[in-house]
Amino acid sequence: MTNRLQRRKFIKDTSLLAAGAGIFLSAPNIAGAAPNKTWTVGEIIDLFLKEVNGAPFATTVDTLKSGSRDMQVKGIVTTMFATIPVIRRAIELGANFIIAHEPTFYNHLDNTDWLKKDEVYQYKSKLLTDNNITVWRNHDYIHSHHPDGVYAGLLQQLGWNNYVAANAPWNVALPQTKLSALISDLKQKLNIPMVRYIGDDDQPCKKVLLMVGAAGGQRQIGLIGESHPDVAIVGELQEWETAEYIRDARASGKKISLIVLGHTASEDAGSEYMVGWLNKNVTGVKAMHLHSGQPFQFK
Ligand SMILES: [Zn+2]
Repeated sequence: MTNRLQRRKFIKDTSLLAAGAGIFLSAPNIAGAAPNKTWTVGEIIDLFLKEVNGAPFATTVDTLKSGSRDMQVKGIVTTMFATIPVIRRAIELGANFIIAHEPTFYNHLDNTDWLKKDEVYQYKSKLLTDNNITVWRNHDYIHSHHPDGVYAGLLQQLGWNNYVAANAPWNVALPQTKLSALISDLKQKLNIPMVRYIGDDDQPCKKVLLMVGAAGGQRQIGLIGESHPDVAIVGELQEWETAEYIRDARASGKKISLIVLGHTASEDAGSEYMVGWLNKNVTGVKAMHLHSGQPFQFK
């Protein structure tokens, strides 16, 4: 494929956000860098785990989803989700190691027994195998890293580093702002077209509970109940759990608002953080972050 055609294809592909496409346009082949040391998948994983207290964990979802520890790494892609477009892009770039924050096969443990006859699973699985791509999930470890790489990346992106305590980055004390202004700020800084929210636009917000990803209703509600924030900002939630709790909390007289960012918007900065870590520590192998984008369209 000529460069021009490649470019056209990249630009047409709206499933990846513009910033990700931009990186590709300026870096035609990340395997092209001359390595001064070769790395296996296992060596890179073990190097990261050295920085995580208590690692390796006896029980973790951070396993290989395809490929092997012994594979020699030609190039690395970090991403929120190893989507089929991300895998295809990695192949085009000559990268054979994908570090994804979230599952590859649609459930927390990446159990695939129930998917064996599913055509989408078969397609994705074959794409990975045929192209010798190793996928490693880095979820539990990056959250247990000091600092938590996801919060570190997100706070950096939001410019909120001065508003949190290091040991509890989910408790944010912002200069007072109105809910509507906070929402506009989040949308702009996280490059998201819309958020779902519950609350009064004019409500003053100072105390923020920032819960990235999908912590689950009981953890979200538990922390909200303990910390009494003006606003809880979450990645995603079950509509019938946390959202209904917030409605009842407001009806019972509490002044609390809720903002739902979307799972990827709340954690994508962690994959940026991981690329920074790789570029610093895994010399000789090119690494880049690809936005897997988010699955929804909005009308
Ligand atoms: Zn996470």
